[in-house]
Amino acid sequence: MSAIIELGGVRKTYRSGAVEFEALRGIDIRIDTGEYVAVIGPSGSGKSTLMNILGCLDVPTEGHYVLAGEDTSSLDEAELAAIRNRRIGFVFQQFHLLPSMSALRNVELPLIYAGLSRADRRERAAEALAKVGLAERLDHRPGELSGGQQQRVAVARALVTEPALLLADEPTGNLDSRSTRDVLGLLDELHDAGRTIVLITHEQDVAARAGRSLVIDDGLITSDRATAAAPAGATS
Ligand code: ADP
Ligand code: MG
Repeated sequence: MSAIIELGGVRKTYRSGAVEFEALRGIDIRIDTGEYVAVIGPSGSGKSTLMNILGCLDVPTEGHYVLAGEDTSSLDEAELAAIRNRRIGFVFQQFHLLPSMSALRNVELPLIYAGLSRADRRERAAEALAKVGLAERLDHRPGELSGGQQQRVAVARALVTEPALLLADEPTGNLDSRSTRDVLGLLDELHDAGRTIVLITHEQDVAARAGRSLVIDDGLITSDRATAAAPAGATS
């Protein structure tokens, strides 16, 4: 398997005025293409900070991050934005959909940056929405959809550019248990189809869906283990 993510010696220090806070204190992680990895840890442990770095939304203070063979530490803002657009899909706890736009228009948005024609955008967006089970809801605005449906629109938006990596930060944190099952089922399907997924959560039962879980505590990885049944022939 080839690595899609390699983090080495990653530290992140936040500075506000004279106060410094080290949110990540030396993180080494390798994630291979096609893995489904949960990152679990208590509130304030550094999960979102790690996600921001994995998503090229922020850069480490120290250490290196190689994404799909490309060392991101040498990239400037514009290059990071380009890599983000090309390689990464994001799903957030708060959905972050534009309330005045239909589901279809929300999902089309990332394709505008990809330079597709209007007709191609609509077709790709409609396909992505059909994949998440919302073919009948293209013209609905977020306010006319349930929380679970809104999060499925967000997943469609994350996938419409066919990114190599899907990053989800507490994607079920605002959902009831039925919608949670729904969205987790969707992530399972995406993983089965070969997507690499990194899911951040503070709930053990959500993490249990992934094949591997990393525990982060106080800015350090304290555990890294397989959570699914071992493949046939493997012994432990
Ligand atoms: P989690 O997502 O696990 O709850 P975060 O990564 O959001 O944790 O935050 C980790 C720590 O870093 C927390 O103590 C938080 O207060 C601090 N922190 C996060 N973002 C900033 C920031 N922009 N400036 C200063 N401190 C921050
Ligand atoms: Mg967080």
